Amino acid sequence: MPKETTHRLPGTVRPEKYTIELRPDLTGFTFRGDEFIAIRVLQPVKMIVLNASELEVTQATLQGRDGRLVPAKKIDQGKGTQRLRLTFGTLIPKGAATLHLAFTGILNDELSGFYRSRYTMANGTEGYMASTQFESTDARRAFPCWDEPAAKATFDLSLVVPNGMAAVSNTPIVQETDLGDGTRLVRFAETPRMAPYLLAFVLGPLEAIKGATREGTKIGVWALPDRIAHGRWGLEESIRVLEYLNEYYGIPYPLQKLDHLALQDFAAGAMENWGAITYRERILLFDPATSSAQTRQNIVDVIAHETAHMWFGDLVTMAWWDDLWLNESFATWMGTKTVSALHPEWEMWTQFLDAETVRGLVLDGLRSSHPIEVPVKDPAEIREIFDEISYSKGASVLRMLEQFLGEASFRRGLRKYLRAHSYGNARTEDLWRALEAASGQPVRGLMGTWTRQTGFPLLDVKVTRKDGNARITLSQSRFLYGHIIRVLKEKTRWKVPVNVARAGLRKPTSFLMEKGTASRSLGRSRRSPDEDWIKVNAGQSGFYRVNYPREEWDRLRRAVATGGLDARDRIGLQNDAYSLMLGGYLPATTFLELTSAYRDEDDATAWRLIADSLQDFETLIANDRYLDRFDAYGRDLFRPAGERSGWDPKPGEGHLDALKRTTVLSRLGHYADLDVLDQAAKRFARYLRDPASLHPDLRGVVYALVAQEGDEATYETLWGLEQKAALQEEKVRLLVALTRPRDKRLLEETLRRSLTDAVRSQDAVLVITNVATSRPGLGRDLAWSFVKENWDELYRRYAPSGFLIRRLVEIAQVFATPEAAKDVERFFRAREAPEVHRMVRQSVERIRVNAAWRMQNGKELARWFASHQG
Ligand SMILES: [Zn+2]
Repeated sequence: MPKETTHRLPGTVRPEKYTIELRPDLTGFTFRGDEFIAIRVLQPVKMIVLNASELEVTQATLQGRDGRLVPAKKIDQGKGTQRLRLTFGTLIPKGAATLHLAFTGILNDELSGFYRSRYTMANGTEGYMASTQFESTDARRAFPCWDEPAAKATFDLSLVVPNGMAAVSNTPIVQETDLGDGTRLVRFAETPRMAPYLLAFVLGPLEAIKGATREGTKIGVWALPDRIAHGRWGLEESIRVLEYLNEYYGIPYPLQKLDHLALQDFAAGAMENWGAITYRERILLFDPATSSAQTRQNIVDVIAHETAHMWFGDLVTMAWWDDLWLNESFATWMGTKTVSALHPEWEMWTQFLDAETVRGLVLDGLRSSHPIEVPVKDPAEIREIFDEISYSKGASVLRMLEQFLGEASFRRGLRKYLRAHSYGNARTEDLWRALEAASGQPVRGLMGTWTRQTGFPLLDVKVTRKDGNARITLSQSRFLYGHIIRVLKEKTRWKVPVNVARAGLRKPTSFLMEKGTASRSLGRSRRSPDEDWIKVNAGQSGFYRVNYPREEWDRLRRAVATGGLDARDRIGLQNDAYSLMLGGYLPATTFLELTSAYRDEDDATAWRLIADSLQDFETLIANDRYLDRFDAYGRDLFRPAGERSGWDPKPGEGHLDALKRTTVLSRLGHYADLDVLDQAAKRFARYLRDPASLHPDLRGVVYALVAQEGDEATYETLWGLEQKAALQEEKVRLLVALTRPRDKRLLEETLRRSLTDAVRSQDAVLVITNVATSRPGLGRDLAWSFVKENWDELYRRYAPSGFLIRRLVEIAQVFATPEAAKDVERFFRAREAPEVHRMVRQSVERIRVNAAWRMQNGKELARWFASHQG
């Protein structure tokens, strides 16, 4: 039984059932609530302590087994502690009791708790609706509760809803009563035992389209009536996703229905409320006339991630937020697995490298990263860990583990774990134990090295070749970008599943590296000595980086140029080279020469990661005089791919061809390829006369390039289109375009407008970060100054969500001078902002790495670019 601490409620009283009635007022932005909580007192107490925040509790009464009503003597609302302490002047005996509370609260505008949202329809109709976002610790802003993931209880919810509005919650509606005053009382079925952060309710002028799975679960997609037709794709896919997961988990989906709701104001991408998943509109709605292939994919991907949570996270919940990673990593991994099964042609495991693995590696290469399993206490600390470690690194090590154990053992272990903890809570250890039992492998010992230690290994490869035989020797040390500043030997060791590919061999050589070094014979080559190559981390399912001697890099570069490596290996090689270069393990020119070998590349994800690495590279050299030479290098690299893709879809081409076209054309335009800019201008002119003429996949590219080259008039045209656009996907594309002008005054104007009512709060963050990163030489100073000047407002708006405020601090990472690092430190030293504590340290470390890199590489690069004229 946990004692009360600053971050945990005392374990003396347990909630069993909440009966809640809420009356929101959508004009005054408040609500009134009335709640009966069936509790079990586990040991006699004088005081009942639960969570409440920003609520005004007006009445508290306790009814014991004897039926007597005891009003609270003292209601201590504990300002700032998010706790409600109720004293009844008598010792409350062990056993069952009912707590009755009446309270009022605020429909806030902070996208968390019970919040208001302004909806806008295509015909100009506007108004307010209300929805919830409780994860991690904001259920307490809607009703007093034991707001901890292990305090599972059932919920019997009723809402007073204005006529003309729909109401949706976790379970189906069981009763509606007309109250005769233009409202009705809507009561939902009692939920199963669940954590309070998974409760949700939305009321608004929404409509649904509906379907059902073959098992009979009712599925609904909800949106504003003017756009509900665009829910079709999401509906069809969500049915397939649920059917797949039913089968994979071997446990039928536990609720009667599953709704997906498209909301215009939403902080995260989506939220896995049990049975009522909420989404940003642009992650659920697909308009065939204007939505891109990327959106089509994102919708399925996010639906799969959230639906995976219905079991993993919702049916079985982490015992405390320390194990958040398990929820998020698992859903990320499972989401990819699901989409990969439903759409094999999308090559999701290759895209996973870009979406997850690389992002995890990038953050985890910093000394200021943190272990996957990390102790967290208060709400600010909890918010801080919704990051690339909890999602991306965690998902990547699960992928590594599944590959190591085999898909069948992994799935058996997982089913065991879910069955054992259904409607309850579990810890990371419980999953490892189930996987050990299913596989007979020492999972705990292996995974502990990945989840309890910060960072990941760099494998240094030595190769000895003799008479066609080759032997590799690997040694591991922690990879750190800070290596460029100071070489530090660390004793950290990982248990590394290693796969090695070799020219001419179909199957990789696999083994588990348990010590600091390992050596293996790879046998005789089937290729001529010149064509032989060796690639470690074959298939890139390992979460680590690999470095080779110069001669081996040369062999691999030739293999890339001649198409000898698989796509994932080509991707891994190029991405490792970038990171090794930034960390000072590899000369910058080796990276640039290797990357030049990708001119004939045909994989969409490879192009995206090449584009990302060069985008990062640009932040390092953004103010150097050879920047124009770098542009020429970029044009040279991307041009053949641009020509192969062309502007118009070819008959029979696939989804990945569409993604690739978008990437390469937008990069070519960024590097000022005249043909591409010319095409963009022509297509935009045609679009203004005939909007249907512009293919959805080209809209983002064309808007951005026209804005990049355009004047004030073009800028205002794009702004007008943005204001007029009905769907958020289109709005966001246009907003991003407005961060592209080369004219600083226009960029300033974009920043200024981002915080006005014309731009939704959640989208402003995207605007500001894009100004900073897309052309850092031009925008980073503007964006960073803007963040500093508007910090108080930005903090008020975005700190409650956690990750949005972190994105804004992350902007600083595009700087590359010691002065910038000092400036960031100085700014935050003077400010109380616990949600970004870690991000500030990470940003400062990143800037110092960038600055050291510039010091060491500046001269050599100037020479290299001078001798490589595009
Ligand atoms: Zn999730």
